[in-house]
Amino acid sequence: YLAKEGRTGVELYQPDKDRNSPERLTLLGDLRRAIDGGELRLHYQPEVGLDSGAVRGVEALLRWRHPVHGMIPPSEFVPLAEQSYLMRQLTAYVIEEALAQAASWWHGGLRVPVSVNISARDLLDSALPEQLEVGLARYGLPPAAIQLEVTERILTGDQAYTQETIKALATLGVPLSLDDFGTGYSSLIRLQRLAVSEVKIDASFVRRIAESEDDDRIVRSIVDLVRSLGLRSVAEGVESDDVAMRLAEMGCDVGQGWLFGEPMPAAEITAWLRERAGAPEYGYQPEV
Ligand code: C2E
Ligand code: MG
Ligand code: MG
Ligand code: MG
Repeated sequence: YLAKEGRTGVELYQPDKDRNSPERLTLLGDLRRAIDGGELRLHYQPEVGLDSGAVRGVEALLRWRHPVHGMIPPSEFVPLAEQSYLMRQLTAYVIEEALAQAASWWHGGLRVPVSVNISARDLLDSALPEQLEVGLARYGLPPAAIQLEVTERILTGDQAYTQETIKALATLGVPLSLDDFGTGYSSLIRLQRLAVSEVKIDASFVRRIAESEDDDRIVRSIVDLVRSLGLRSVAEGVESDDVAMRLAEMGCDVGQGWLFGEPMPAAEITAWLRERAGAPEYGYQPEV
């Protein structure tokens, strides 16, 4: 099992699939130490306006450099944490790091909202809105400096508790984004009843719009619906000029993907943002 990780090109470690295997339990112990031990870092990927080319925000994506196994992707360790008591601690760490980074940008004149992924289970934690409120105040940040991304799974499970946390977040003014849209079980209609301000269309549809008319139609109808609800549409996994132009033509608001920029370490994305902060907005056009 090999995968590319940014520019490092290291081999990825995949723990045993068995839930209670010794490998997984060891890895969970490693993760607990990694949170305090400085092995976890956030990388940041730009989100770009498809009409203007302007940076609309960045998404914080967690990276774990394990001392023995090398880079372990979040798709391996986040689900592991989700099944354990560690998720709360992991989310608290990510929020703290993202707030610190957002504050450094914000107070340095770069007003770029930072999106943080949380687990659907985190919305069962009634302490989350207060943690955010206290953190925002401590860093002197407005609530719009941060956004939470959560998958459609919030629509399943214990909705009463979840709704309460969602309501508290709305009162606080922290926007909510519905991640990986299209992969879950929610019908488009249910979107209406969710207090989200943004819908991220899953990369699996976006990537194929240039080749498949079915996928083109699906993405087009999601974009239309999202707009009709007054929400912002974001396309994930934009890898080519062709796809970006089609999305712009559909009226999709924002694009995210390797075409615009990979997830980058803090220093690198800061330079990337500074370089673009002074540049005129140009509207999405391929380089010829
Ligand atoms: P996501 O939130 O949907 O994040 C988008 C994923 O797409 C990221 O994978 C990103 O690196 C990848 N990506 C970006 N551009 C492209 C592209 O052009 N093509 C393709 N094929 N992929 C692209 P990553 O970083 O491996 O993260 C995977 C998932 O792990 C995330 O999906 C999110 O659900 C979860 N995750 C990452 N960081 C965190 C975190 O701090 N907390 C929680 N709870 N989950 C996280
Ligand atoms: Mg996300
Ligand atoms: Mg996603
Ligand atoms: Mg995803």
